Amino acid sequence: MTAPVPYIGRFAPSPTGPLHLGSLVAAMASYLDAKAHGGQWLVRIEDVDGDRNVAGADRHILASLQRCGMQWDGDVTWQTQRTALYDAALAQLADSVYPCGCSRREIADSQTRLAAQHGANASLVYPGTCRAGLAPGKVPRALRLRTPVAPAHVVGFQDRWHGWVEQDITREVGDFVVRRADGFWAYQLAVVVDDGAQGITDIVRGADLLDSTPRQLYLQDLLGLPHPRYLHVPVVLNDAGEKLSKQTGAAAFDNGAGPADLLAHALLPAARFLGLHVTADSIAGFWQATVPAWERLLRERGAF
Ligand code: GLU
Repeated sequence: MTAPVPYIGRFAPSPTGPLHLGSLVAAMASYLDAKAHGGQWLVRIEDVDGDRNVAGADRHILASLQRCGMQWDGDVTWQTQRTALYDAALAQLADSVYPCGCSRREIADSQTRLAAQHGANASLVYPGTCRAGLAPGKVPRALRLRTPVAPAHVVGFQDRWHGWVEQDITREVGDFVVRRADGFWAYQLAVVVDDGAQGITDIVRGADLLDSTPRQLYLQDLLGLPHPRYLHVPVVLNDAGEKLSKQTGAAAFDNGAGPADLLAHALLPAARFLGLHVTADSIAGFWQATVPAWERLLRERGAF
C-alpha cells in the first residue's frame, strides 16, 4: 500500500471587505481541492496591507465561510501576528535586498520612457535606478529584491488549470519590492514565508495571481523553501469585463441569508462558474455533490 500524499491547502483572503462571488469562487475551489484530496484546508487572513484592511471584514469573511459549511482545519492565522517570520526572511535575503528611494511618480515617469522604447510590457519593470546605491539626496523608502540581470531569467511552472506558464522576471518584472515605502510587508514576501512556514503543498487561487507566481517561486528558491503545486481558477468578471471586487460592484455576502438563499444565490452560482453543474437542496448535500464533481472535472482535464 502506498502512503497517502500529504496535502495542505489554504484560502488566504485579504480583509478588504465581505466575501462576494469572486472571492467565494476562490475559497470554494481551494476547499474542494483539499477535500477531494483528503487534505487539510487552512485559512490565513492576509492583513499586511494596513491601508486596505476594513475593520471587521476578517470576522465577516470567517462567518461567511462557516455559513457555507466551509470549516477550516486548525486555527486561523493573521499575517499581522507573524511579522517576526518576515523579519527573519528579510535577514536571510539581506545580500539580495537594497533600499530604493524612488517615488511612485519617478518610477511611473521612467516606465513611460521604457514603454516608449520597448513596448507596453516594459511598464511593469523597475528600471533599476537605485540598484547600485541611492542617488545623492534620496532617502531610502522601499526595500527591493535584486533579480538576475539581463538578458533573461525565465521562471516557469506547471499550473494544474492553465498548463505551462512562464515569465521572464528580469525583463517583465525587474527588482521587486519586499518591504514597502510605508513600512508594510509586501504581499509577495509575506505569502511565500507563510506558505512555507505552514507547509502548504497546494495553492488554489484566482488567475489574477498567475503573474505573481514566478516571483513567489523565485523567492522560495532564495529562502530554501519547496515549491507548492499551483492551480489558478478563472476570475469572475463584472459586465464591464473587470475582475469582480467590492470596487467593481460585487454584492457583499449576506451572513443573515438562510440555507435556501445561500444555495440559490451564492453556492450554486459559484459552483456553476467553476464548471460544476450540480443540484442540491441542502448545504451538506451541496458539498456531497461538488467534491466528487470537482475531482471528475480535474481528472477530465488531466489535472487532479
Ligand atoms: N490575499 C490575496 C488576495 O486576497 C490572495 C493571496 C493568495 O491566495 O496567494 O487577493
